Amino acid sequence: MSPSRSHGKLFIVGIGPGGTEHLTKKALDVLLGSEYIIGNGTYLDQIKDITHDKKIIRSSMGGEVERAGKAVELGKDHIVSIISGGDANVYGMAGIVLEVAQKAGDIEIEVIPGVTAISAAASLLGAPLINDFAIISLSDLLTPQKIIDHRLKCAADADFVIALYNPKSRSRKENFGNALDIIRKHRNENTPAGIVKSATREGETVIATTLGKLMDFNDIIDMSTIVLIGNSESKLWKNRIITPRGYQRKYEY
Ligand code: SAH
Repeated sequence: MSPSRSHGKLFIVGIGPGGTEHLTKKALDVLLGSEYIIGNGTYLDQIKDITHDKKIIRSSMGGEVERAGKAVELGKDHIVSIISGGDANVYGMAGIVLEVAQKAGDIEIEVIPGVTAISAAASLLGAPLINDFAIISLSDLLTPQKIIDHRLKCAADADFVIALYNPKSRSRKENFGNALDIIRKHRNENTPAGIVKSATREGETVIATTLGKLMDFNDIIDMSTIVLIGNSESKLWKNRIITPRGYQRKYEY
């Protein structure tokens, strides 16, 4: 260990999609062993039952750079957890914390994986992923719209199952419909599609439908929703989506 570092450690913890039963045992152990827990209000509330004796630092949504700086500073001398919903590598805090740490110098960091929202959403829909898939965020806050559109086009053209994170926000209502227009150019209207809102949380909603009918549900789609579009082989079965892996091509059953 370097002489300039004292005994702190910073954990970047994925706390899962909602229900605490989906917090991993490792994440739970790390949170229970931390002196400080840093996160935004929504995610801190998600784990409030297990963190009441901790020093909590609440940060606003959008204050990620400042939050990461604070976590890195504290983590030099204390055991600190900075939390992300789902998994910290999926549009979560792992990237910005490591970038800030890279500049700040010597600090011990460990990233703890979590159940990302797409795993929860896919499980609720049955078996929609299975084969190659692409996750694309529709948030244009940090990624230019041109790049998002290009990725949508390429993923749709390459027949990936597509999962859309951040499909809509209060200030960004139009680009969900625009994204579907891009995907529709490469995919049939009857392609199975799923909507999963608030997976494993109160108000959980699961809808299996088709690409052509997705806009009928436009009003319920918000920032707590994932929209999933199957590939050319996906099929609907009892409010579920199945994407075949290809067993049928190889074996008879
Ligand atoms: N790090 C998180 C994702 C953060 S981006 C993860 O790994 O899941 C936030 C987006 O994730 C939301 O806009 C929504 O599209 C999706 N999301 C997060 N939790 C969700 C849940 N419980 N149900 C449905 N979608 C969710």
